[in-house]
Amino acid sequence: MLFDTRSVSIKSGHMIDGEIVCGNDPDTIAVKSASDPSLAWQLPVAGSDMVDRAVRSAQKAFKSSGWPTMEPRARAKIMKRWAALVRENVRDLAQLESIVSTRPYSETMARDAHVAADCLSFFAEFSDKIDGEVTSTRSEILSLSIREPHGVVAAISPWNFPLILSAWKYAPALAAGNAVVMKPSELTPFSNLKIAELGIEAGLPPGIFNIVQGDGTRTGSALISHPDVDYVTFTGSTETGINIAETSARNGLKPHSLELGGKGAQVVFADAPDLDRLTGLLTRGVCYNSGQVCFAGSRLIVEKSVVGEIMSRIMSAMSELVPGATWDDQATLPPIMNPKQLERIETIISSAVGNGAEIICGGARVECPNEAVYFAPTILSGVDSNSAAVKQEIFGPVATIQTFDNVEEAIHLADHPEYALASSVHTSNLNTAINVSKRLEAGTIWVNDWGRKGDLTSPFGGFKRSGHGKDLGKAGFEKYQKSKSIWIETA
Ligand code: NAD
Repeated sequence: MLFDTRSVSIKSGHMIDGEIVCGNDPDTIAVKSASDPSLAWQLPVAGSDMVDRAVRSAQKAFKSSGWPTMEPRARAKIMKRWAALVRENVRDLAQLESIVSTRPYSETMARDAHVAADCLSFFAEFSDKIDGEVTSTRSEILSLSIREPHGVVAAISPWNFPLILSAWKYAPALAAGNAVVMKPSELTPFSNLKIAELGIEAGLPPGIFNIVQGDGTRTGSALISHPDVDYVTFTGSTETGINIAETSARNGLKPHSLELGGKGAQVVFADAPDLDRLTGLLTRGVCYNSGQVCFAGSRLIVEKSVVGEIMSRIMSAMSELVPGATWDDQATLPPIMNPKQLERIETIISSAVGNGAEIICGGARVECPNEAVYFAPTILSGVDSNSAAVKQEIFGPVATIQTFDNVEEAIHLADHPEYALASSVHTSNLNTAINVSKRLEAGTIWVNDWGRKGDLTSPFGGFKRSGHGKDLGKAGFEKYQKSKSIWIETA
């Protein structure tokens, strides 16, 4: 075992005005470990009064703590101190993450907690690079275009990469001078509470970063509809994203950005380089985090002449994956988040099979000694664009295989009618790589690669039902500011 679950000390509650509080709301949620659901903790659910308290605390801190107006370098210094504290506490953060979520401890230790720290120091450096413009007007006018923080930012994050995806939001929002009220997923609430505690230790003014816990219907919607929230940043499913866009619009026409679902393609040409590495990328694109990844590259679109070899290589790589708890040192395939998620995987597969899909491998849950749920890596062939497995986001280790004879056919199959988050192209031909990348419809195209590697410079976000707006990079910082024009008559 990589860590002893009994030794993890878990604090449950909201972070408001620099303190962890539970409040008087009668409702609680049982947070269950994905790896062992007999491990469960009670989470208080913030009702509208608690949400109001958090937003008012953030608004007060925004207006009077001096955070947005302080010398930008001073703000950067606090954020860098915070990043250092996150690094000092990597072990605790990694355990808090792995004990409830599907994230293996080997990765939360080596990567996820470090990405949170990296986000803080990366965006801290943007604090004093908020440039404006002098626009070209007639000479008696000085026309300035300046950038200001929005005010109170509501940030809502999902359960699949809690530490990483939350940091993508609060770090740039705070660096830009905003106050943040964040609602982590009710399935994985603990690691980010610890992050908020470390923020206070680093010197964040109380109230500048608050956390409210709870589910979407009670806590999330009260937060989005609060009149004093100025901007909404959301990562989660497309259905919830639509709901959030509507609630944001009806309650103050709040600007927002949405990072939503995906249905990524990996297009493999016969000349794709380095078959061993390619096999790793394809398998990882399908099975990483047991496929519970928004940019999973699970639609394999392979040139007909090589499909046999590619398929047998992936099947062999998949057969080596070992299901097990996030703290199991032998495990390489983490659990499915919960039975509801498992049911979704099974429903989509059986619908696809009903429409003619053939299960080449996997296709069933894996028996396990406790109540955790695992799903065998699966390949489906005989699918077309009407198959549920090709159309819907599965969020499990399930690939579909489709074949093509030429570039036109490859692009036609790869472009999804609804989602456009991220896709890959594997080829040794530079012209093919460039032409296909330019023509594919997705917010990110990887060439001879799949997945993010902890890089923070390249913006990430999709089109169509995958959402709008970018996280990370310069764009992921600038969205947390609004533009103001100042017109000075000097005559
Ligand atoms: P979800 O939409 O169920 O929940 C996401 C968050 O929204 C949670 O914190 C939840 O409590 C909250 N929420 C739910 N209903 C709400 C409402 N009505 N108002 C306000 N908040 C509400 O998504 P999930 O199951 O946690 O995450 C998986 C989904 O997230 C997948 O579809 C995945 O593709 C997507 N995702 C996208 C990205 C990206 O960068 N594009 C990254 C990770 C996950």
